[in-house]
Amino acid sequence: PVVMGIETSCDETGVGIVRGHELLADAIASSVDEHARFGGVVPEVASRAHLEAMVPTVQRALDDAGLTLGDLDGIAVTAGPGLAGALMVGVGAAKAYSIATGVPLYGVNHLSAHIAVDTLENGPIPEPAIGLLVSGGHSTIMMVEDLAGKVVQLGASIDDAAGEAFDKVARLLGLPFPGGPYIDRAAKEGDRAFVEFPRGLSAAKDQEKHRYDFSFSGLKTAVARWIEARRADGEDVPVNDVAAAFQEAVCDVLTRKAILAAKEHGVETILLGGGVAANSRLRGLAAERAEKAGLTLRYPRPKLCTDNGAMVAALGSHLVAAGVAPSRIDFPANSSMDVEVVSLANSL
Ligand code: ATP
Ligand code: MG
Ligand code: FE
Repeated sequence: PVVMGIETSCDETGVGIVRGHELLADAIASSVDEHARFGGVVPEVASRAHLEAMVPTVQRALDDAGLTLGDLDGIAVTAGPGLAGALMVGVGAAKAYSIATGVPLYGVNHLSAHIAVDTLENGPIPEPAIGLLVSGGHSTIMMVEDLAGKVVQLGASIDDAAGEAFDKVARLLGLPFPGGPYIDRAAKEGDRAFVEFPRGLSAAKDQEKHRYDFSFSGLKTAVARWIEARRADGEDVPVNDVAAAFQEAVCDVLTRKAILAAKEHGVETILLGGGVAANSRLRGLAAERAEKAGLTLRYPRPKLCTDNGAMVAALGSHLVAAGVAPSRIDFPANSSMDVEVVSLANSL
């Protein structure tokens, strides 16, 4: 099926078009530069930027794919989770395109889309698979039993998301927003073993209740304290080393728990998804440990890890191919959409 996907959950206006697992277009307009000076995404600014970028980005995607709206078999749109006002722009646009053309509409989950995008790179996902979804708002271990409708959350962060920790630590180190890619780059020149920062929820006592959960706020505080102490002593902060040691702490727990989940559930495949899945150390360490454990590791290219429309189109294409019913045309955007809801049903 030929499916167009629309993504507006945060600061990226993304419109992707796929045919089956083939990526035909991936148009993106980002308002990230408008948010950078605030050190975080400003919801009102993001909504307005989506409104301005929506129609031109759809047009650009159609042009790139050499298609018209009439060629589509489905339109998928991120229904949630995300910023309410931002989501509303994408959902409103998708409904308008669907009504105008008669093409069926699918309201889908942004998080499942972060996992589904891998199909564009590596083909159908062997089910069940363990999804490690690490992004600006989430750090979740999911059991993907059926990408068309059955996804179960095994664990998640009990405080900050991994990407949020990257962005906060980057700020402490004086790196630009969003900090993840800058930490990644700085860490390449640093010493991972420079300091041993805490691995949240990894103590023996956490193994029962928080076996697959994460905590990154203690890590962020530990980094902040370390930097403060260093400055109080009048010494320079070795940015590259702190970045490397921090990144190692995050990647260590993420990969260890994802592999544990796979082993304990008898699952052979682990998928990385979300913006933090673009991190070079996470990819490297996960590959190392997966190989040792005899597991298959898959991840999409970095550009498909951060928010984009192709991921929404990829999930939509999977739903259409699986014969899942389209969503009711009057579904609402849901800023706190449940991780386990893959797409919105045809009924209320
Ligand atoms: P969610 O998907 O939970 O709604 P989001 O859509 O805002 O959140 P994404 O676009 O999926 O998040 O990911 C953005 C996050 O990924 C940011 O926190 C950013 O710093 C982080 N990130 C991007 N590239 C890298 C990298 N190379 N290393 C570490 N973090 C990265
Ligand atoms: Mg973004
Ligand atoms: Fe995202």
